[in-house]
Amino acid sequence: ALDPFKLIDIENATEEQALVLEDITKQFELSTQKITEIVQHYVGEMHKGLEKNNHTLAMIPSFVIGKPTGKEVGTVLAMDLGGTNFRVCLMEFKENTEINIKQQKYRVPDEFKTGKVNMLFDYIADCVDKFLQEIGYEKKNGILDLGFTFSFPVQQTAIDKGTLLHWTKGFEAEGAVGEDIVKLMQGSLNRRQIPARVVALINDTVGTLLAHAYKRHTDALIGVILGTGTNGAYFEKISHIKKLGTFQSKSEEMIVNMEWGAFDLERKILPITMFDNKLDRESLNPRAQLFEKLISGMYLGEIVRNIILYLIDRDLLFKCVHFDYSTFKEINKQWAFDTVWVSTIEADQSSNLDDTKIVFEKYLNIYSTSLTDRQIVKKVCQIVGIRSARLGAAGLAGVISHRGAIKTGCSIGIDGSLFEFYPNFEQRLKSTFHEVFGSDAENIHLELTRDGSGVGAALAAILAVKHA
Ligand code: BGC
Ligand code: MG
Repeated sequence: ALDPFKLIDIENATEEQALVLEDITKQFELSTQKITEIVQHYVGEMHKGLEKNNHTLAMIPSFVIGKPTGKEVGTVLAMDLGGTNFRVCLMEFKENTEINIKQQKYRVPDEFKTGKVNMLFDYIADCVDKFLQEIGYEKKNGILDLGFTFSFPVQQTAIDKGTLLHWTKGFEAEGAVGEDIVKLMQGSLNRRQIPARVVALINDTVGTLLAHAYKRHTDALIGVILGTGTNGAYFEKISHIKKLGTFQSKSEEMIVNMEWGAFDLERKILPITMFDNKLDRESLNPRAQLFEKLISGMYLGEIVRNIILYLIDRDLLFKCVHFDYSTFKEINKQWAFDTVWVSTIEADQSSNLDDTKIVFEKYLNIYSTSLTDRQIVKKVCQIVGIRSARLGAAGLAGVISHRGAIKTGCSIGIDGSLFEFYPNFEQRLKSTFHEVFGSDAENIHLELTRDGSGVGAALAAILAVKHA
């Protein structure tokens, strides 16, 4: 099989280019030894987070108890906020895991992401209103139970109660941090007289795990998002969630939303490069979500851009490119390097790296790059992409170790553009599992689980009503 960690050879590199690239490559490298240390550290952090509130690895109880059986029935609404789009769905669950889905997507304009939170939630309520009218839902049919997937760190105190800890992923709406998200959302729905009642508030990772478990994966253990942001949730023994105190439940397990994006904010174990520090300093949330900034789709392009700028400034890249006032105008802009292009470049197998050339010409107005330039850029994309997957695998391996699930085996539901589309991402996860667990890594099953925030939120609503 092909080695998913093989880096491209750079032809005709000068000695200095070779040296500097080697140095950068080293900074991004994670040896098997290092990965093992990160896994161990992760397990220790899980324990701390389960014991006390406000730990960096937050380990938030979701109050989702009971596992879906696949026999759920009922009609509920689901809403999803936290990615690129806002989505609303009406779901009718029938016996035998048949689901009737009506849904609509709406773009969330940037001004709502950073304006007042009431504007954002009123906008969402307007979308729901429009949607219900379009599908012809009539108020006289009654009030719909609603599962709300809200993909940010929320400190939950009940399945339908939780305050926002902080925004992530470019959202910054005012007046939400510290407030009860369900109350705010219900307020907006009520103002628009929408016949819906939020009965469950969940994280997207929780939804992904529910949707995965619903598909009769009795060994479902973890739900993960590897997309714009990253995070994981898993089934935990309630008796292990020490900070819950005594919690009465018929069920033995509860889903815990780890909020792993904030893992090792203390910088005890993760190797951080100057390129990461620059990204962090210039971000909307400096000194937050460090792990997420090394892994997730929102950031990979920006890390690559930072390395490219460094190489340009050291006079080691684009030496033959005609350089005047406009040449680097585009690439100088923050976020100018889309993570989709990192994907494209990693996927570029042509000997002349033609697709890479197109990226620079079409989107960045940088012409007459040399083949060596493009090979360097490709290598930069590879080291950033590899580090991302290896760190994601380390987090997952931590959960699997903690739950002692490697011998018995487990399955992981995964959603997000990185996992779905980024070249070699899955292979890189699997190879990293092999380094950590040896041949037992075969017992880990990965499955793309696309509709966590829809089906998952709907299931959470059904479970919430059932267990209320
Ligand atoms: C949020 C998580 C979410 C993840 C994936 C992160 O930025 O903090 O709550 O699960 O993104 O959407
Ligand atoms: Mg999403």
